[in-house]
Amino acid sequence: MDKRIGDKTLVEWEQAEPIVKEIREKRELLWLNPRYGERDAGLVTTRDVADAEARLHRFKPYLATVFPETEQAGGLIESPIYTTAKLQTFLGEEAGTRISGRLMMKADSELPVSGSIKARGGIYEVLKTAEKLAIDADLLRESDDYAMLAADSFKQFFSRYSIAVGSTGNLGLSIGIVGATLGFQTTVHMSADASAWKKALLRKKGAFVKEYAADYSVAILEGREQAALDPRCHFIDDENSKDLFVGYATAGNRLKKQFYEQGIPVDADHPLFVYLPCGVGGGPAGVTFGLKQAFGKYVHAFFVEPTHAPCFLLGLLTGLNDRVTVRDFGLDNRTAADGLAVPRPSALAGKAAGHLISGCFTVADARLFRYLKTLKDTENHWIEPSAAAGIAGPQMLLGSAAGKNYLEKHHLTEKTADVTHLFWATGGGMVPQTNREAYYAQASR
Ligand SMILES: *Cc1c(COP(=O)(O)O)cnc(C)c1O
Repeated sequence: MDKRIGDKTLVEWEQAEPIVKEIREKRELLWLNPRYGERDAGLVTTRDVADAEARLHRFKPYLATVFPETEQAGGLIESPIYTTAKLQTFLGEEAGTRISGRLMMKADSELPVSGSIKARGGIYEVLKTAEKLAIDADLLRESDDYAMLAADSFKQFFSRYSIAVGSTGNLGLSIGIVGATLGFQTTVHMSADASAWKKALLRKKGAFVKEYAADYSVAILEGREQAALDPRCHFIDDENSKDLFVGYATAGNRLKKQFYEQGIPVDADHPLFVYLPCGVGGGPAGVTFGLKQAFGKYVHAFFVEPTHAPCFLLGLLTGLNDRVTVRDFGLDNRTAADGLAVPRPSALAGKAAGHLISGCFTVADARLFRYLKTLKDTENHWIEPSAAAGIAGPQMLLGSAAGKNYLEKHHLTEKTADVTHLFWATGGGMVPQTNREAYYAQASR
C-alpha cells in the first residue's frame, strides 16, 4: 500500500493530518479549512456575477411566459427563506444543549421549474447558451423583449443544436426541462445512483437519458467525450463550468435582499452561518462566492458531505482538488444522498472558492433520513435526503471542539445568541409523493 496520493502515501497522509484517519473510519466530523482567508486566485470576478445577474434579468419575460409558476415573481427563479424555530428546539433537545441564535431554512426545494439548487446554475448555463446562439445568428439583441424566444421559430432554430450533461439527477432535471422548453435536443448521462423517477420524468419531458452502471465521474466523462464529437452540442460540465458557478453565485445578492426585507441583520454583531450540502462542490462554492460578495466576512460558509463521499473535503485538505477521489482514501461513495454521491470534486470549485470556505463536515446517512422526517414533522416541509445535510450544521459548529475553536479564533463565542444559522435545503421539490413517504419511513427504521 505505498500508492501515492499527490506527494504522500496513505500512511504519510494519516501522519501529516490526523483527521484523515477519522475520515477513513467514516466518522462524522468537522474539519476547519486552513486556507480560509487566503488570497483570491481571480478565476471568477464580481463582474462575472454581475453579468450573470443582468442576463437572468433579460430572460425574465421569457421565463414568466414559459414557466407560469415564475410569473408572479416577474420571471425570477428564487426560493423563500423560513424561520424554523420548532426544528431548532428539536435539534437542541437531540444534542442536549440549547442551539442559540436563529435557525433558518433556504428552501431551494421550492425553487420554481425544477425544485432544486440546480435551477440556479443549470438553468443559467442553458439560457446563456441559447442567448449566444441567437445573438450570433442575428436573431436576437440584448435590448429585445426575450419573451419572443418562446415563439415556434426559435424552437425550430434551437432544435438544430443539442445540449448534453452528466448528472446524478437534479442537474439533468433542470437542464432537461429548460433545454427541452427552448427546443434543444437534450441528452442526460446518468450515474447508477440517480433515482428511477428522475430518469422517468426526464424522458417524459423529452430528454434523451443514457444510463451508466458506474458512478458520477464516469457519467460525466462519457458525456463529455460523446459531446466533443459533435460541434453543435454544448456540454455542461459540472466538474469544471464557470457558467454554472456564476449562476449559483447570483444567490448571494438575492439572499441579501430577502434578509433586508425581513429585517434580519447580518453584520459584525449578527454573523451568518450557512450550511451547504456538497457534491462536486460547484453549487455550494458558487453560492459561497456570491454570499461573500454580499456579506463579506460576516458570513461563514460550511460544506456538508456524506461520510462515505467527502470528496470536496479531501480535495481541499490534500490541496489536490480534482486530482483526488474518495476511493484513494478507501471510501466507497455509497450514500442514499444521490445528489452528494460524488467521488471526485470539481476542478474549478476548490480553486475559485477554496479560500472562502470556513470548513467542511460529514454526516452519516441515518442522520439525513432522521432530519428529513423531523423537518416534515416540525415545520411541514418536504426535502430530499441530500438536502437535509445542512441541518446538522448548528450542532456540529456549537457542539464540536473544532467548531468551538473556530468561534474563538474569529471572536464569535460571545455572539452566538445573535447568530443566524441558515441551512440550505438544496432540493426535493419534484420528488413524487410515494418516494417522499418511502424516505420518511426509512427514518423510522
Ligand atoms: C447537486 C446537489 C447538491 C450539491 O451541489 P454540487 O454542485 O454537486 O456540489 C446538493 N444537494 C442537492 C439536492 C443537489 O441536487
